[in-house]
Amino acid sequence: MIRAVYPGSFDPMTYGHLDVIKRASSMFDELIVAVLNNKEKSALFSVEERVNILKEATKDLVNVKIDSFSGLLINYAASNDIHVAVRGLRAVTDFEYELQLAQTNRQLSHEKLDTVFLTTSLEYAYLSSSGVKEIAYFGGDVSPCVPDFVAKMIQDKYKGKGE
Ligand code: ADP
Repeated sequence: MIRAVYPGSFDPMTYGHLDVIKRASSMFDELIVAVLNNKEKSALFSVEERVNILKEATKDLVNVKIDSFSGLLINYAASNDIHVAVRGLRAVTDFEYELQLAQTNRQLSHEKLDTVFLTTSLEYAYLSSSGVKEIAYFGGDVSPCVPDFVAKMIQDKYKGKGE
């Protein structure tokens, strides 16, 4: 059985993330989407909110589980018997950062954790959590970017701000 982890901030999950989740879930026996609890980074949504969004959006995908973790990915992977990490690539600008991250994880884990990259579906290539937050902050329509219930949650966070 091959279990993979898709780690990230998911602040919040977009259709780009969901596309990677669906495609990865058909490649592995089990996919754990793991929300990084990074206290250094200020996030719009709490880890619990981000986990709940992912749970709702993936409820029909039977082999997908949602979790959160803090600290190093290699430690989370080792304690869950995971040897594959999944990450997404949108553009060349993602590549340098992702390459370094993947090589660091491979090195630090003594080659026990490798990374598999899925290239974005073209229709989601422009999508990022930070872009979605910026559009919503200024009152723009984020319905092409995130499920309706997430759009509503973002709007609630920004009510009265930005305009
Ligand atoms: P990070 O983990 O760097 O804070 P995110 O949580 O936003 O970033 O994204 C997690 C992973 O999903 C990253 O590998 C990122 O490149 C990828 N990703 C984000 N948006 C998309 C998209 N639209 N298409 C494909 N991959 C994406």
